[in-house]
Amino acid sequence: MRRINKNFDCPPTELRNCSDKHTASLLRDKAKGIKRDCYKKSEPKLRELYLEKCAYCETEYLTTSDTWVEHYRPESKYYWLAYEWSNLLPTCTKCNRHKKAEFPLLDESRRVSIPSIHDVRADKSPLIDERPYILHPEIDNPSDIFEFETNQGIQIKGKDSENRGCKTIELCDLNRYEGNNSGLPYDRQKKVIDEIIEFIVTIDDLLKETETVMIFKMLFEKKIKNLIEKSENSYLEHTLLRKYLVISSDNFMKIVGTYLPSPQLQIIIKTITENYFEPRGA
Ligand SMILES: [Zn+2]
Repeated sequence: MRRINKNFDCPPTELRNCSDKHTASLLRDKAKGIKRDCYKKSEPKLRELYLEKCAYCETEYLTTSDTWVEHYRPESKYYWLAYEWSNLLPTCTKCNRHKKAEFPLLDESRRVSIPSIHDVRADKSPLIDERPYILHPEIDNPSDIFEFETNQGIQIKGKDSENRGCKTIELCDLNRYEGNNSGLPYDRQKKVIDEIIEFIVTIDDLLKETETVMIFKMLFEKKIKNLIEKSENSYLEHTLLRKYLVISSDNFMKIVGTYLPSPQLQIIIKTITENYFEPRGA
């Protein structure tokens, strides 16, 4: 999951027109009156904003499954938000199916149960006061709430004291395995980590016979610059993991260090990343 900027004041025109036309019947017929064709009008703009990635697991849904326009607050419980722009997210079918209609709150007594045509914005009172467990990628900052660890691939973990990260992972199944070394943890490892390890081992092999630590350092620093650029490239998958790696030497070594083939190589990479990341972060 990564943070996305969406202007809640400017829903796509087609969605707005459709919503204006159908909201009255929605309030009358409740969940039974929800028109899928209406909220699906948001899909082209959602695809553009999320660059064809699932809002929760960040995989390219075009390559994995159909797109789903997901109601952040489920339509069965919050039918009056069915066409609300701040309630619509693009997700892959796997996240969508796993999340179902669950929407737990930190404090159930704050749940909004009275329909309104005015108080519909996810970032404003009374909805924001509900304090949902599941993160909203357009309101919350996932970098503050998630971290990663190596365990059968790369698993995402919650690190916040309110447990919102853990609960989001559980509700969307963000560490799902799918057999034969596939699934999200292995996908993160294959698409982000394996390339880095391969690079390090290749330059280490090339330079092994000579006393060329300086050249190793130079080549590896160039690679780090490339990793930083990639972490800022929203078109790529798993950008939250990519950002996590280049924040500090500790993060980098916690993930990449465990895959390095020798203690000597671990020491070299640790020293280079400490010198590279810490002055940059200071
Ligand atoms: Zn997904």
